[in-house]
Amino acid sequence: MKSWTCIEKCGACCKFDLNNRENIYKILSKKDIKLIKEMTGKDGWCKYLDKKDMKCTIYSERPHFCMVNKFSKKFKEYYKTGDEFLIKCCKQHISEIYGKKSMQMNKFKNEIMK
Ligand code: SF4
Ligand code: SF4
Repeated sequence: MKSWTCIEKCGACCKFDLNNRENIYKILSKKDIKLIKEMTGKDGWCKYLDKKDMKCTIYSERPHFCMVNKFSKKFKEYYKTGDEFLIKCCKQHISEIYGKKSMQMNKFKNEIMK
C-alpha cells in the first residue's frame, strides 16, 4: 500500500497561487489568506523557503496550513481516502511546479512505494 510522505528538497507546495487552489479558500480563514499573501514573494514562492536547499527556514514555527499532517484533517476528502488524498495533492503540486516527468516526481513516487 502506498503511504504519503514528504520528500526532501521539494517545496512544491511552498509556491502559492491561490487562484489554482480553490478548495483551500473554503478551509482557510481571512487571517490565513492575508498571511499567505504576506508570505508570498513576487515570484510566487514563499519568502521563508531557502530556494538553494528547498528547505523551510521557519520549519518549527511554520503556519498551521504548512503542517500537512494536521492541515489535511480539515479536508473531507482526507477522511474518505486518507493518504491517497495527500498523495494526489502532492502529485498535483509537483506536476504544476516541476512537471509530471520531473526528478522530484520520480523521487516522490519512489518514496511513497517504500
Ligand atoms: S508537495 Fe508534497 S512532497 Fe513536495 S514539499 Fe509539499 S508536501 Fe512535501
Ligand atoms: S513557511 Fe515554510 S513550509 Fe510554509 S510555505 Fe513557507 S517555506 Fe513552505
